[in-house]
Amino acid sequence: MNRCTGNRNCRLIYGRIVCVTIYLDSASTTPMSTRALQEYLEVAETNFGNPQGNHSVSRKAVYRLDDYRERTALILGCAPSEVYFTSGATEGNNIVAYGSAKVNKRPACSVVEHKAVLAPCLSRQGIRIEVSTNGEIDQDYFRGFLKTNRDELDLISIMTVNNETGVVYPVSVFAGMVAKHAPGAIFHTDAVQAAQIMDLAPLVKECQALTLSAHKFNGPKGTGILYVDKSIKLAPVHKGGSQERDIRPGTQDLPSIGAMVVALEEAARSVVSTTDHLTNIRDHFERALKQRVSESFIQSQTATRSPAITNVLMPGTINEEMLFLLDAEGICASGGAACASGALGASHVITAMGVDERLARSALRFSFSKTSSLEEIDNAVEAVALCHEKLSETNLAISTANP
Ligand code: PLP
Repeated sequence: MNRCTGNRNCRLIYGRIVCVTIYLDSASTTPMSTRALQEYLEVAETNFGNPQGNHSVSRKAVYRLDDYRERTALILGCAPSEVYFTSGATEGNNIVAYGSAKVNKRPACSVVEHKAVLAPCLSRQGIRIEVSTNGEIDQDYFRGFLKTNRDELDLISIMTVNNETGVVYPVSVFAGMVAKHAPGAIFHTDAVQAAQIMDLAPLVKECQALTLSAHKFNGPKGTGILYVDKSIKLAPVHKGGSQERDIRPGTQDLPSIGAMVVALEEAARSVVSTTDHLTNIRDHFERALKQRVSESFIQSQTATRSPAITNVLMPGTINEEMLFLLDAEGICASGGAACASGALGASHVITAMGVDERLARSALRFSFSKTSSLEEIDNAVEAVALCHEKLSETNLAISTANP
């Protein structure tokens, strides 16, 4: 509950004024679902064994782990032996980026990847795949890129949904192109922002590796899934035990894995209703925002986008300042990827789209969830408009005083 600032997000509940937080940062993280939490508690209480042991308590954990792996494989449309449990997408992406390395070869990835892909790929002298001003990857350019670089590449990584702009990439098409024009390379997709809004099995069918993170689909933090096609042999990044068929050594966190699988099943069951709801919410937000702040600019508007994410440029403002004011109004949003928020400077995703540094620093990301309501959106837009007005006036006064 927030300190009451007398703003419009305060409500009278049982005679007391309560400040309500409006959470529009679901691309950053989501709360655990009730069922996921119940699963976590049940497993933590009743099934604490180490799956690597040789006794009945361990066997009980192994049965459960096998069950979770089979249920994950069912959703992904792959074999259980192709499912690896990880500590999240950062680890999964690093395992793919480093584990796919071949002598005298290097990876390529889109310039708008999350840092968990970009950083390991670039550390291996990876090649950048550019995007248009709309955040998309031109298919002819991509084909030409593959033909030019085919002998150099061991990995190509293109995300399914961009976590800052919501742009959806046609990964099945790209995977097909890689198979045809650069068959020596693995095609990987970071599908972290796709689990709530897409059927993952068709993606898995086309890609050789895919990463997911539980806390983006109402599962626990610090847990993820890595799919790797059985024909691919990745070298382990960490050395240690033989868990997860050597690719990810370390004792499995069974309660978290269980909670993640339950959350994944819930997400998979409600992809259609979630997408419909999010589309309604996102469209309402964008319409209302354009009406209230006419100079706001919604990024990638003509691209195919996830309905869960809106990225908006707010000329005349700096996102850190806007986020500070919005927070005081009870609105939780972000300037981009969670790991980069709070840091000064423009997002690499927004500048890669050709937005100049100054304007890029005004970018705000609003990301919606199954529980976002139209009323929340109206209140949030009103708060954004007021904060924008306040900041624009202040910044104008400063620039007039210091010409
Ligand atoms: N990839 C994308 C697209 C993300 O949005 C995130 C989280 O923000 C990650 C990777 C990192 O995931 P995790 O928090 O599980 O390490």
